[in-house]
Amino acid sequence: MEGVPYFIPVEEAQSIAFKTPPLTADEECDLDRAHGRILSQDLVSKVNDPPFDNSSMDGFACRLNPGAIYPLTLKISGVVAASGQEGTNVLGEGEAFRIMTGAPMPEGADSILQIERCEVTADESTVTLLEAPKPHFVRKMSENLTEGEVTLKQGTLLTPSRVGLCATMGYATVPVYKPLVVGILSTGDELKAPGSELKRGEIYESNSYGLAGLVQWMGHKAKRYSSVNDSMDALRTSLDAASDECDVILTSGGVSMGEFDYVRRIMEEEGDIHFWRMKIRPGSPPLFGTWKSTPLFGLPGNPVSSHVVFRMLVAPYLRRALNTEGPVEWKVRAKLCDKIKSTKDCLTLRRVTLTSTEEGMMAHQPRHQGSGNLESLASADALTLLQPGQSGDVGEWIDVLVIE
Ligand code: AMP
Ligand code: MG
Repeated sequence: MEGVPYFIPVEEAQSIAFKTPPLTADEECDLDRAHGRILSQDLVSKVNDPPFDNSSMDGFACRLNPGAIYPLTLKISGVVAASGQEGTNVLGEGEAFRIMTGAPMPEGADSILQIERCEVTADESTVTLLEAPKPHFVRKMSENLTEGEVTLKQGTLLTPSRVGLCATMGYATVPVYKPLVVGILSTGDELKAPGSELKRGEIYESNSYGLAGLVQWMGHKAKRYSSVNDSMDALRTSLDAASDECDVILTSGGVSMGEFDYVRRIMEEEGDIHFWRMKIRPGSPPLFGTWKSTPLFGLPGNPVSSHVVFRMLVAPYLRRALNTEGPVEWKVRAKLCDKIKSTKDCLTLRRVTLTSTEEGMMAHQPRHQGSGNLESLASADALTLLQPGQSGDVGEWIDVLVIE
């Protein structure tokens, strides 16, 4: 593997992978199905929001007279509801309109007094305002959005409120990226599908399920293949199928230095490796390259490692491919309450639980940190982002990555 970057910092590994992005495509999507999708184009508002001046209160609309003395009695000249009906109401001198939330302001009115501060006569002919009406209860035309303005940018993840905003802007369908199809191939002779009987020496295959969850969490389609035996022929057949059917391939296992680490070997001999190994603990063995021009991440076999490497390498890659920030992961500061074993040259991701206190976030490490211990990840709230050289001593404030 001469000339292939070897055991490089995580950022360098990311930027090498970024140079070989997957092909993306877009499609129009009904708003009903838009939640969790990513915009493939900027969205310009088709309307002003609000489209007309209207009331933010149930009450009375009138004209504010700076010289007036309160209580002040005005003639009620009509009722305006949020009815969508056309036609304009015109306010006369000494008059007020009964107005409902969302109803258009009558012409000549500039302020609202909420109903609680108004007294209406039994015959509803007059109203007495107990105090001055308020201009700030008028929602002005286009104070939220202006027609023609870019409101949501390409790459925006459509959260529930953003899906609603698309409707506010007048869109029934929106342009979004097609989910990428991510193939997941686990490798290892010892792996058995969960549900089957285990013989001595065998374990249940778990990585493909965890990785599929991560792929779906990122909004893409996971295509899980049956696990592949440690043989060059079996691997070649599966990789060929995955490269035909998928936009990106993830393998797990078989990328270390062992004799049976066939993913590394087949990629070396028949594929194209762009880097091998990165400075991360756990999870230093990964490789990235292409198999028949399909981008391929060779993730480590240890369950915690495959997960951590997905978060630090594959997730940034998939985000980058669609120019999106989503889904957002929170990096927060936390104080170490247990000693974390750090390393001189690697980014160290240990599994911690978090408690929020008045002093800030406290991080505990309650479990043993073997990279085969998936339970330590399943019970954790966050991963430490302990930089090379940071001590990991009790009392140190560090960044942690909050995980779902
Ligand atoms: P490898 O990288 O293939 O040497 O695997 C490292 C360790 O992870 C071994 O203990 C494997 O048994 C385990 N392992 C590999 N792949 C999986 C998998 N898909 N699910 C669960 N454990 C795995
Ligand atoms: Mg293996």
